[in-house]
Amino acid sequence: MTIAENVALVRENMARAARAAGRDPGEILLLAASKMNDADRVRQAILAGVDACGENRVQEMLEKQAQGAYEGAPLHFIGHLQKNKVKQVVGLAELIHGADSRELLETVSRVAESRGLVQDVLLEVNIGGELSKSGFAPEEVPAALEYAAALPALRVRGLMAIPPVCAAPEENRPFFLRMQKLFIDNGGKKYDNVSMDFLSMGMSGDYTEAIACGANLIRVGSGIFGPRHYGAPAP
Ligand SMILES: *Cc1c(COP(=O)(O)O)cnc(C)c1O
Repeated sequence: MTIAENVALVRENMARAARAAGRDPGEILLLAASKMNDADRVRQAILAGVDACGENRVQEMLEKQAQGAYEGAPLHFIGHLQKNKVKQVVGLAELIHGADSRELLETVSRVAESRGLVQDVLLEVNIGGELSKSGFAPEEVPAALEYAAALPALRVRGLMAIPPVCAAPEENRPFFLRMQKLFIDNGGKKYDNVSMDFLSMGMSGDYTEAIACGANLIRVGSGIFGPRHYGAPAP
């Protein structure tokens, strides 16, 4: 299967899942999670019509950006962002998915402010309560939104989650449903600089399940590019 064929297949599955949930397929964005795929393969995905590209590692993103990998699609940062790399990402990534602590929110706002920008972010929620994952606990989300709303150069555009690794996609449904409830409950409250536009959840193995539970931004890697070969030299 080519990258274009994979994208077409993912779009079909997205449309079917959206219609089954009584949703408009057009309201759901497909992000290509392009880690470990070189600039040429990223361009193929963009030509095939993905809505955005997402990278996990700052260094890899900068290298591929210099090669023109992302021309024609918005670039998002979807990885764990270390505070000392914020300067390299603010302004380059249109949306930072993994805003996972107050310290990071504050740093992003400070860097953005110094450049006269406003940076869009999603709050990452540790929906499975996993010790190995970062993110705000579900019950911390309202206070985190209030905190973010007071920062001058930041705009929260929604929530993001990576649920625990499960044997079967249906097992993620309770986590996705909890995210949907958080998204709706907190979307009703009015904070400055907060608009609950995006619910980023669902990956290759479970995006139809995520769409059934309200996701409107799914992040698909191997389902578009094929399996990643860990241990092979980086592209
Ligand atoms: C790699 C990655 C994805 C995509 O994973 P696949 O299972 O290959 O679709 C999605 N989200 C994040 C944060 C990732 O790091």
